[in-house]
Amino acid sequence: MSTPIYRGRFAPSPTGPLHFGSLVAAAGSYLDARANDGEWLVRMEDVDGPRCRPEYDKAIMLALEAYGFMWNGTVMRQSDRPEAYRAALDSLKNKDLVYPCACTRKEISDSAIAKDGAHIYPGTCAAGLSDGRASRSWRMRVAGERITFTDLVQGVVSQDLEKEIGDFVLLRADGFFAYQLAVVVDDAEQGITRIVRGADLLDSTPRQICLQHHLGVAFTEYAHLPVAVNAAGEKLSKQTLAKPLDGKNPVADLMAVFGFLGMTSLKGNDTSVDDLWNQAIRLWSLDKVPKVRTIPQGT
Ligand code: GLU
Repeated sequence: MSTPIYRGRFAPSPTGPLHFGSLVAAAGSYLDARANDGEWLVRMEDVDGPRCRPEYDKAIMLALEAYGFMWNGTVMRQSDRPEAYRAALDSLKNKDLVYPCACTRKEISDSAIAKDGAHIYPGTCAAGLSDGRASRSWRMRVAGERITFTDLVQGVVSQDLEKEIGDFVLLRADGFFAYQLAVVVDDAEQGITRIVRGADLLDSTPRQICLQHHLGVAFTEYAHLPVAVNAAGEKLSKQTLAKPLDGKNPVADLMAVFGFLGMTSLKGNDTSVDDLWNQAIRLWSLDKVPKVRTIPQGT
């Protein structure tokens, strides 16, 4: 089978049910794939074992069906793939691009805070573990890494990984692989060509491009959609009590999502879900998506 020109994906984490924000990411990636005659895959990002629950995995899959999404192939689950992440980490070890780190959270709690709220690692273990210290996690070296890319919605993004992020964790102290590594390995494995997702992940993208480069896998295109936030500027998520969407009112919910993505001329009255999707696929253009990272919602 030849590789399609376009392959997109939706990669939810089963840490809660589907909500408005995740439906925006699902719909945006789906519309972009279908409008480009591409394939669209679903991957359950349950790599963060302690935070993921099988009941949310099930609820998300049922909701996707209720909203009329049709995915290609079988659903990949990160919990099935530790060997693939281990192999990627080993290849980075062979190039001396990673190192073991003994620091606890508390030990780095004085260092500066990055845009995503994490501490910028001060490089304590970069030259080797001091005597008597045991490895807890593995970190990626980022000295001298500046990544610049053009996002198809947000424009040119540039990040100095050393200054703005610091050496970042690939294998966590609790034994789970980090999202940053898993997402790159899986997008490569699934042959994803364009990643359409929420702009809350824009600041993670340079780390992922850096890993793509050092793992020698294909680069992907990126389109980061605006994220719905509450009046305090916080992402609508389980933590901020965004209401779960179960697909009982698919046309109304999808109309809200399509409007959020800049498609205001769709007809939602007396329309079936399939017809609404067809209208939206015909109208879809990334150019219509508001070029902002966040849009406040009146919840
Ligand atoms: N699993 C991530 C999330 O739900 C999304 C990862 C991605 O799209 O790259 O926030």
